Amino acid sequence: PQLPFLLKASVVKGFGRGSKLLGIPTANLNMDQVGPVVDSWPNGIYYGFSCLKGDVYKAVASIGTNPYFKNSQKTVEPHLLHEFPDDFYGEELKFLVCGYVRPERSFASLEELVAAIRSDIEVARTALEAPGWRMLGTREAAWAGG
Ligand code: ADP
Ligand code: MG
Repeated sequence: PQLPFLLKASVVKGFGRGSKLLGIPTANLNMDQVGPVVDSWPNGIYYGFSCLKGDVYKAVASIGTNPYFKNSQKTVEPHLLHEFPDDFYGEELKFLVCGYVRPERSFASLEELVAAIRSDIEVARTALEAPGWRMLGTREAAWAGG
């Protein structure tokens, strides 16, 4: 895909298995609103910035079928690198996709999956602090350029 790419959709309920239980909640985007644009993108882990209620956060997302959980439909699921006091189901979430971390894969155990996600989070944090992207994390208005 041509990056950065802006995705915008409301946050819907996922399968509720896994992520929050693992301490790594992922805000599943409404795929009807995301549309077919991501169909051609390689399944994998991506990093970027998310805007929720006007505030911008670093994020790392799975875009794919989560082979460990063997989903059939492709989903976009950003994990925002921030602790929120409450859930935000139903809110509009923007995800400005900036880069690719690695292809999607399955793992032999939940522990290995969690270790991989923790490593993905650090890759994302570092990449988004690099001069090329850092500015986009200051405020949403920076996404429009200028
Ligand atoms: P689901 O299967 O419904 O997506 P999750 O366990 O992945 O359940 O939890 C996702 C929900 O947790 C999000 O929809 C959001 O409302 C909430 N949430 C709280 N903190 C975060 C965060 N840092 N990143 C993403 N979602 C979060
Ligand atoms: Mg989720």
